[in-house]
Amino acid sequence: MQSEITLEKVKSALRQVKFLHSKDNVIDDGDVSGIVLKDGHVSFSIEIDPKLAKNSEQLRKKAENAIIMLPGVLSATAIMTAHKNFSSTQQKNTFPTEKTQNKLLKPAKYIIAIASGKGGVGKSTTAINLALALKQKGINVGILDADIYGPSLPRLIGSTKKPDYENKKILPLDAWGLQVMSIGFMIEPESPMIWRGPMVMGAIEQMLRDVLWKNLEVLVIDLPPGTGDAQLSLSQRVALSGAVIVSTPQDLALIDARKGLNMFRKVNVPILGIIENMSYFICSDCNSRHNIFSTGGARKEADRLNIPFLGEIPLEMSIRQTSDTGAPIVATDPENQHSKIYIKIAELIWESLANKKIENASIIID
Ligand code: ADP
Repeated sequence: MQSEITLEKVKSALRQVKFLHSKDNVIDDGDVSGIVLKDGHVSFSIEIDPKLAKNSEQLRKKAENAIIMLPGVLSATAIMTAHKNFSSTQQKNTFPTEKTQNKLLKPAKYIIAIASGKGGVGKSTTAINLALALKQKGINVGILDADIYGPSLPRLIGSTKKPDYENKKILPLDAWGLQVMSIGFMIEPESPMIWRGPMVMGAIEQMLRDVLWKNLEVLVIDLPPGTGDAQLSLSQRVALSGAVIVSTPQDLALIDARKGLNMFRKVNVPILGIIENMSYFICSDCNSRHNIFSTGGARKEADRLNIPFLGEIPLEMSIRQTSDTGAPIVATDPENQHSKIYIKIAELIWESLANKKIENASIIID
């Protein structure tokens, strides 16, 4: 008979786990939170001092091993976080990259990163609608929300359901036939956290490695906004086929987008193109087009930099409403004129992947 795994048993196993030279174990230290038990699968988060972030992997393994040893446990997943209460958050990030870089992660035939220079430009909305548009073409598509700091996928698909497990792996959720995964499904939404560099990459790696992606042809990765170390590190660890940059027309956003382009160039990831989001506004009363932010900046920039311009997406109420209520427009209204814009862009991306026979970029590590 399978013994039943309980919260108490998990806690008592974790009482055997100490971090480095800490006097107390991780439970009595108050580091463990969000323990989830589901049919023999156990997940929890461990908060550590950001200063010790580079040792987080070691602690993660220790804690997972302690749980996996318990009778009745099928899998154990520890998610490492650094909490706001730890004071030294200004410390420079360090990455566990030197030793682990050799083998690139490649959970799909084609992996596309959707990036933006800054937050709020509609990167996640674009990512899910493009993933859905690719899916419509009969392609087997997954989407990974790598925006650890502010996961949007739960909002975009309207679910915070905890994932199931199979063979000790985390099963992606299904949304309109897409395989979807986000850190937002694993941690409690109300726990505010600051993630340190190594832990960001650790959590993203877990979602690429420990998630049972099934026969993916395309994995769309919604990157965290910006062009910092986390994005660079991800580009160096994952076999990206290419990157798509989402920008709004404002100059400032374009300057940021340019930084993104440079980052991908630095690691030899092909730029599949640039998309101008919130490009123009069509007035529902007079039906005329208003270029609120002097549209066309992204197209000019793309021409100047000699990279493909993939299209303009309007600032549109129905895009915002559907995106914010867990019913993305391409899934719920595929015949809509705005859905057709995403579908057209997805076609351009697919052609460029298929024609160029890009499977993964050759990575140069500085
Ligand atoms: P990011 O991922 O860049 O932070 P989001 O995709 O979360 O951006 O979008 C930010 C906000 O803008 C959301 O409320 C979203 O619904 C809205 N939004 C995104 N694209 C459009 C658009 N083309 N028209 C109207 N609203 C949009």
